[in-house]
Amino acid sequence: MNKIATAIKNTYINSFGDDSIIAAAPGRINIIGEHTDYNNGFVLPAAIDKAAYVAIGKRDDNAIVLISKDLGDTLETTLYDLMPIANSWTNYVTGVVDQFLKRGYSISGFNLVLSSDVPMGAGLSSSAAVECAVAFALSELFQLDISSIELVNIAQKAEHEFAGVLCGIMDQFASVFGKRGHAIKLDCQTLKYEYIPLTLNAVSILLFNTNVKHSLASGEYNVRREQCNEGVDLIKKYHPEINSLRDVTLEMLEQHVKPKNELIFRRCKYVLDENKRLADVCEALEKNDIKTVGQKLFASHEGLSKEYEVSCKELDFLIDYVKQKTYVFGARMMGGGFGGCTINLIQATEADSLIKEISEAYKIAMNKELSIYTASIGGGARLI
Ligand code: ADP
Ligand code: MG
Repeated sequence: MNKIATAIKNTYINSFGDDSIIAAAPGRINIIGEHTDYNNGFVLPAAIDKAAYVAIGKRDDNAIVLISKDLGDTLETTLYDLMPIANSWTNYVTGVVDQFLKRGYSISGFNLVLSSDVPMGAGLSSSAAVECAVAFALSELFQLDISSIELVNIAQKAEHEFAGVLCGIMDQFASVFGKRGHAIKLDCQTLKYEYIPLTLNAVSILLFNTNVKHSLASGEYNVRREQCNEGVDLIKKYHPEINSLRDVTLEMLEQHVKPKNELIFRRCKYVLDENKRLADVCEALEKNDIKTVGQKLFASHEGLSKEYEVSCKELDFLIDYVKQKTYVFGARMMGGGFGGCTINLIQATEADSLIKEISEAYKIAMNKELSIYTASIGGGARLI
């Protein structure tokens, strides 16, 4: 048991007694495949070694008692009083419980202690980690034998209905299906997936958090979704069988979209290119060709910044900075954009000096602190 698991076990014992089981579910990175999910394309997430941990035990009534060790907060409610509470961490737990009840799974009251080392709001999906840890833990505690994909759906639905975030399925999928040393090539149209070996000999994955989230983010996200739909609609007139950018070719874009709307063309072309880059990255990973992987990451960022236009000056600064370093194989912004993290593949021996250098440069150029995380690729939801 690691430190976090031991700590929540002890808190559980002090508060409720010695009858808990412990489950954990990880956060995730996405190596490539940004803004492709809602276009029925591919994503390439991997679970990381940071996770949310819950200690959970049955009660003999219908009460639910939740303790967040990290936030120092407690909620007492019952199975019959579940409802979202604006901006509360408890939604990520009670939303899952609500899904269990809606789906007819038989559970009683329980006690739960939560703690996590997935940084909150940094783009590593600390929210999915909590939901998946809770879903997995409840399934084990009440011996419900729920399939992995059902756990994913429960966790995603909890986020939609209780946290009010209409997220895709990638984060929860990666958290449940993650496999040590592998990325997951996930087809967002069919939910078919394939494990891709991620052999990172002497290569570190560093995440640089800009610590900004520009207010443009959610509005522009919806605009991009609309623009992609517009592209599909323009093509549909000539190819009625087309339902998403997944089925669109570059020729179709050039013939039917480019002459009518140059901006929509650029947006759609980015999505096609990104799916192609993802396929190339998977092929390169199979050959352990980290150089090619890195180049595709830089190309992905270029597309996100110049064609899809969802980057920002802080993200571009970090990418431009590492591009000059021969020991950085590749980097790109990760997540929806307008802030959040960059993901960097770097020669491990150079990590410490780069961290020092870029932290100082970022502070001077952007007048903000940079937060840094290292990610190793870990396994999915599990019992401890
Ligand atoms: P992200 O998923 O990118 O980290 P979100 O805003 O989607 O960011 O989710 C962060 C929220 O998830 C937090 O504000 C909190 O409500 C909940 N959360 C995550 N980790 C914890 C934790 N360790 N304890 C309590 N709540 C947590
Ligand atoms: Mg989240």
